[in-house]
Amino acid sequence: MAYDTIVEDGIDVLVVGAGLGGTGAAFEARYWGPNKKIVIAEKANIDRSGAVAQGLYAINCYMGTRWGENNPEDHVRYARIDLMGMVREDLLFDMARHVDSAVHQFEEWGLPLMRNPKTGAYQREGRWQIMIHGESYKPIVAEAAKKSADKVFNRICVTHLLMDETKENRVAGAVGFNVRTGNYHVFKSKTVIVAAGGASNIYKPRSVGEGAGRVWYAPWSSGSAYGLLIQAGAKMTQMENRIVLARFKDGYGPVGAYFLHLKTYTQNGYGEEYESKWFPALQEMVGKEYLDPEASHRTHRPIPTCLRNHAFISEVNAGRGPIRMVTMEAFQDPHLEEIGWHNFLGMTVGQAVLWAATDVDPKYENPELTTSEPYVMGSHATGCGAWCSGPEDVSPPEYFWGYNRMTTVEGLFGAGDAVGGTPHAFSSGSFTEGRLAAKAACKYIDDGKAEGINVSDAQIEKRKKQIYKPLETYRIYRNEIVAGTVNPHYINPRQGLDRLQKLMDEYAGGVTVSYVTNDKLLNIGLHKLKLLDEDWENGIAAENIHELLRAWELKHRILTSEAVLQHTLFREETRWPGYYYRGDFMKLDDKNWHVLTVSRRDPETGEYTMEKAPLYHIVDDEEDGGKKAKEKEKAK
Ligand code: AMP
Repeated sequence: MAYDTIVEDGIDVLVVGAGLGGTGAAFEARYWGPNKKIVIAEKANIDRSGAVAQGLYAINCYMGTRWGENNPEDHVRYARIDLMGMVREDLLFDMARHVDSAVHQFEEWGLPLMRNPKTGAYQREGRWQIMIHGESYKPIVAEAAKKSADKVFNRICVTHLLMDETKENRVAGAVGFNVRTGNYHVFKSKTVIVAAGGASNIYKPRSVGEGAGRVWYAPWSSGSAYGLLIQAGAKMTQMENRIVLARFKDGYGPVGAYFLHLKTYTQNGYGEEYESKWFPALQEMVGKEYLDPEASHRTHRPIPTCLRNHAFISEVNAGRGPIRMVTMEAFQDPHLEEIGWHNFLGMTVGQAVLWAATDVDPKYENPELTTSEPYVMGSHATGCGAWCSGPEDVSPPEYFWGYNRMTTVEGLFGAGDAVGGTPHAFSSGSFTEGRLAAKAACKYIDDGKAEGINVSDAQIEKRKKQIYKPLETYRIYRNEIVAGTVNPHYINPRQGLDRLQKLMDEYAGGVTVSYVTNDKLLNIGLHKLKLLDEDWENGIAAENIHELLRAWELKHRILTSEAVLQHTLFREETRWPGYYYRGDFMKLDDKNWHVLTVSRRDPETGEYTMEKAPLYHIVDDEEDGGKKAKEKEKAK
């Protein structure tokens, strides 16, 4: 094949994927490594890549310590409650104590943050959320990363990490191909920060036909954050904790600004309040300490996101749908009406267009909501990702192995969706995680941990052959197409994706089974996934470079899905009703499962090992509602 091999050597910090996590990493690496060689490899173009590409109307993680609003500890308590106890408190605390400074920087760089005219503080949408004019959020932040990096390689689909051949379990770079030219790119690097995306489109989406590309999370998020790490043998955590979102129907418009700022609420199809009806039965399932409807009136103990989903799903299944968002009251206020529309125009323009196209005016009609297909990600109200070291000063020994945000592979770091157990980071928190990872990566290099790295030409050639094999398969068998795209010798990426989505949906608790699964179903799912992976390995065909991209995205989605299946099978309880249900273990079981789940896939054999890891509560229960922050501010 006529594709060139382009080698970038002598890199200190390689950032793979530059959404908010990756841009934070590149920016901070320059601060701690003024003379270090920092390179970004990005599948799209960093000006408009990652989950924030389309813009955001809010920054959902801001403490406001400067204004005496919240302490980092409060945020840990909030995320812990929301995730039914299951978070890495050390990592969350570490992010929360640094996140405000990242937001202040965004403002310095030109991001328009709204301010409360009375107090001068940032305009709050909710306790943790501040409002922004954020259509250009990503290009603004990307500018800082571009100025920090020595080189930015856009349009590179990174397929594999390179491993050091002098020391086992140490990373040495990455490889991939340019999705426009097809050229093979080799990045030899002392450290790698994986900040690629979580996974959309591994479960069959509700959208079909011409709407099929419309999903909640970025459609291009192909699970590379997990696929790359799993292939390299990094341990993963909480991969069962996939998320289901309550969203405006068909456009996936977010509900946060509506619930929190516009103070809208939901009703069933008959105009009735329905949530509280489900609470007594839900308390039986999860225990009173996880659902305290009385306390939920206080802002610091909201009803966990998954449990709100549970009420929604149960009400619909009881035949009283559709669930509607009551917007007709709030939209009588012209200011709130404007905010309601701006909210979508700034970040989910498709929802505004869909309403316009289907004559939905939320001033005169309460729009329908729906629950989405599941997504695997780690920065919204869920915490899938790699098992990473925490910071030295807070982490207990089991959570600390030398370098903050380093995975269990040496020199390999994560940020954003890639790091597990850290929900509620959102955009600002992901950027902050990137900064923390980059600081640690620079220290790793300065400590001499990357000395003597060697990657053989054989490893580089082996990967090259693997990467382009789907093009070869197509070239050899193309003349045997029997009809349309059907060929007895191969599958194409679309066919493979359809198979994956169907099996995840039906066996791993997707939409069509109302998010319910059990051990029998999961085992069948694993078996079918193995067959799909075999078909991928033996005969996935790519007609062109674009299909080659789709083939490798599918590979990362398959790897991600396998981890989801394995983790879901391992955790024998229903920890997050409303995200998924183990039909064979319908209750939350703190006696056996007040633990984090950790997996490793052996890169040689593909075998999985699962273990339980201790869940440490580092932050106490005592809510202080920003008191300490206020005192600190006063003392200044
Ligand atoms: P979303 O717009 O749904 O992505 O959510 C934006 C933010 O609002 C996130 O921090 C959510 O966790 C939070 N949020 C959304 N809906 C609610 C709700 N009903 N109660 C409390 N927090 C919410």
